[in-house]
Amino acid sequence: MDYDIAIIGLGPAGSTLARLLSSSFKVIALDTKHEVGNEGFHKPCGGLLANDAQKAFIRQKLNLPKDILTDPQIFSVKTIDLQTQIVRNYQRSYVNFDRHKFDLWLKSLIPSNVTVLHNTLCKEVRRIIDGYQITYLDKNKKEHNTTAKYVVGADGANSLVRRMRYPQHTIRQYVAIQQWFTEQHPAPFYSCIFDNKSTNCYAWSISKDGYFILGGAFPKKIANQNFEKLKEKLSTQGFIFGEPVKTEKCLVVYPNRLRDFYTGNENIFLIGEAAGFISASSLEGISYALDSAEILSKILNSGHPKPNKCYYQRTIPLRFKLYSKIVKAKLLTTPLWRKLIMKSKIQHIE
Ligand SMILES: Cc1cc2nc3c(=O)[nH]c(=O)nc-3n(C[C@H](O)[C@H](O)[C@H](O)COP(=O)(O)OP(=O)(O)OC[C@H]3O[C@@H](n4cnc5c(N)ncnc54)[C@H](O)[C@@H]3O)c2cc1C
Repeated sequence: MDYDIAIIGLGPAGSTLARLLSSSFKVIALDTKHEVGNEGFHKPCGGLLANDAQKAFIRQKLNLPKDILTDPQIFSVKTIDLQTQIVRNYQRSYVNFDRHKFDLWLKSLIPSNVTVLHNTLCKEVRRIIDGYQITYLDKNKKEHNTTAKYVVGADGANSLVRRMRYPQHTIRQYVAIQQWFTEQHPAPFYSCIFDNKSTNCYAWSISKDGYFILGGAFPKKIANQNFEKLKEKLSTQGFIFGEPVKTEKCLVVYPNRLRDFYTGNENIFLIGEAAGFISASSLEGISYALDSAEILSKILNSGHPKPNKCYYQRTIPLRFKLYSKIVKAKLLTTPLWRKLIMKSKIQHIE
C-alpha cells in the first residue's frame, strides 16, 4: 500500500480528520478546492457556526481568526411561518462567517506530514487485496492511481465514495439554492422561513458583509420554480431582492430514517455529510462533520482492531441526536404543531 489512509474531500469533516490523525500514519488527502484564493470549488453555505460546532472547536482548542468573520454577528432569528403568518424572534448564538475562507483555513491547519492534493478530483475507489485503489485527476486533468489500506469518504452530500461503494445505501437529497443580492434592507437581519404548503421548503435569509442571501432546500424536480415562487411571496412580506449578484446550487442530504445515517464497512469510513450527518430540521451540518471526524480520529489513532464496528458504535449517540432532528422536522412541517410551537414560549424552533 502507498498510504495507510486516503481521505477523499477536505471540507470541515476531512480537514478535521487530517489534522487530528496521528503522525505515525502515512496519509493522503484529495480535495477539489484550490489551496488558496477565490478560484475553484466553493461550498454553498449559509456560513453560520452553531453552538455545537463552537463546542467542537473548544474541545479541539481552536478559535476562529478574525478575517473569517463577517458582519453582522447574529443573535436574533426572525422565524416566519408563511402559512399562518406567525412571526417570532428567537435568540441564537451563531457566528456569522465566510464559508470559503473557513474551509481554506481548516485546510491550512493540516500538518505537513499529510500529502494534500488540491484541485484534485477522485474518480474511483476500487477494492484490491488488503485495501483500495484510488483513481484521481490532478489539476491538469491527468489520471493517477494510488493505494491505501483505509479510505475515508469525507466528500459531502453527493459522496462518490458512498455512491460507488454503497449503492444500496441511498439517502434522500434535496437541491439547495442560494441567491446573493446587494443588501438594501434598512437593518440587516437573519430569518428562517417555513412554507411547506406552496413551495414545500425550508428556507433562510442572512445578511452578510453588505449582501443579502436568500437560501432554501427544495425537492429536486421543481426546485427552481419553487425558489422563484418563494421570492415572490417574501417580496410581499417586506423582503427586498433586486437583481441577483450570484446564484449557487448544490445537493444537500435530507435524512428521513435512522438507517439513512451510514458509517461504512470493510475499512471504508464515511464522515460528515457523506454519512448523512446533517440536521433535517435546520440543515446545520458543520458540527456533525467536526464531531464525526473527531470520533473517527480517536478510533484510528488508538489502533482499534475493529475500527468500523467501533466507529459505528461510537456514533450511535450522534445518530440518535440527528434522528431527534428528523422528528422535529416532521413536527415543524405539520402546520398545527408549528403553530402551537410558535405560539408557545419555546425558545428554539429551527
Ligand atoms: C445551502 C447550504 C447552506 C448551509 N448552511 C449551513 C450553515 O450555515 N451552518 C452549518 O453548520 N451547516 C450548513 N450547511 C450544511 C454544511 O454545509 C454541511 O453539512 C457541511 O459542509 C458538511 O461538511 P463535510 O465536510 O461533510 O462536507 P463538505 O463541506 O461538502 O466538503 C466535502 C469536500 O469534498 C470535496 N469533494 C467532493 N467530492 C470530491 C471528489 N470526488 N474528489 C475530491 N474531493 C471531493 C469538496 O471539494 C468539498 O470540499 C449548509 C448546507 C447547504 C447546502
